[in-house]
Amino acid sequence: MYNLADIKTVKSILSRYGFNFSKSLGQNFLINPSVCPRMAEECGCNMEVGVIEIGPGIGVLTCELAKRTNKVVAIELDKKLLPILSETLSDFDNIKIINDDIMKMNLEGLIASEFDGKDVVVCANLPYYITSPIIMKLLETRLNVKSITVMVQKEVALRLCTDLGTRDSSSIGVAINYYAEPELLFEVSRGNFVPMPKVDSAVIKLNIRKEPQFKVQDEKLFFKVVNAAFSQRRKTLHNSLSNGLNLQKSIVQDILNGLSIPLTIRAENLNIEQFVKISNYIYDRKIKL
Ligand code: SAM
Repeated sequence: MYNLADIKTVKSILSRYGFNFSKSLGQNFLINPSVCPRMAEECGCNMEVGVIEIGPGIGVLTCELAKRTNKVVAIELDKKLLPILSETLSDFDNIKIINDDIMKMNLEGLIASEFDGKDVVVCANLPYYITSPIIMKLLETRLNVKSITVMVQKEVALRLCTDLGTRDSSSIGVAINYYAEPELLFEVSRGNFVPMPKVDSAVIKLNIRKEPQFKVQDEKLFFKVVNAAFSQRRKTLHNSLSNGLNLQKSIVQDILNGLSIPLTIRAENLNIEQFVKISNYIYDRKIKL
């Protein structure tokens, strides 16, 4: 079995295959021996729970996952990594590599066909150029997974895991909290990757909620309100909702007054329940947007 977290091993395998890292595919491979075992331990997989991995690279995390579960399905976009993965993961018979773009895949279909009704978790060191779109795809399609454990850029991790109602609140933070309970697991500095990225990383775990915390009448409208509120985050909610939803200021004033939300408040000061109340208020009173 290869030591895929050893830089000399990684470099020698890659040079044998004439592999060059692709910056545009976010290829920074982990070379720290304890990070992948820790991710695999904390992602919640076991012999009864299958795993989807996104972007296996040369398989450093994949093999740690495969030691702890019956089945890993790993989706890798870069064709050039396929022969390498066949070699590095040849000791395992419980790994399926799929050569595809995670953003274009039908993941519900994949879960139905590959995991036979079993619980599934996602575990991955994500390519940074599409971190948020990948996470939002997994959440918005309400993929039937128990949790999503991913390594992302540290600043993104902090933003996704921050408490709502604080300065670092964001529209994606609201969306994350709507679908899941986020948890910051641990940080990984840039020196643990080859090639070394310009930023540090952190591993987060999104524990998917079985039911949303609050009853939202119209989800599309809810996210429209959230996005409008944060689209001009330095402005008051009164202004940002009026501009973002194209509503007269007097109507927004009535909505906020009706919900006893101060006109001077900013989006970053709102909790998720207040966003829900605003969108339900608009929905219930059939206010035209
Ligand atoms: N898991 C490996 C590790 O931890 O060392 C590699 C992680 S590297 C940060 C991201 C991986 O995602 C690369 O292997 C890259 O080729 C792959 N990737 C990039 N875009 C992808 C996409 N749209 N779909 C699937 N894989 C992708």
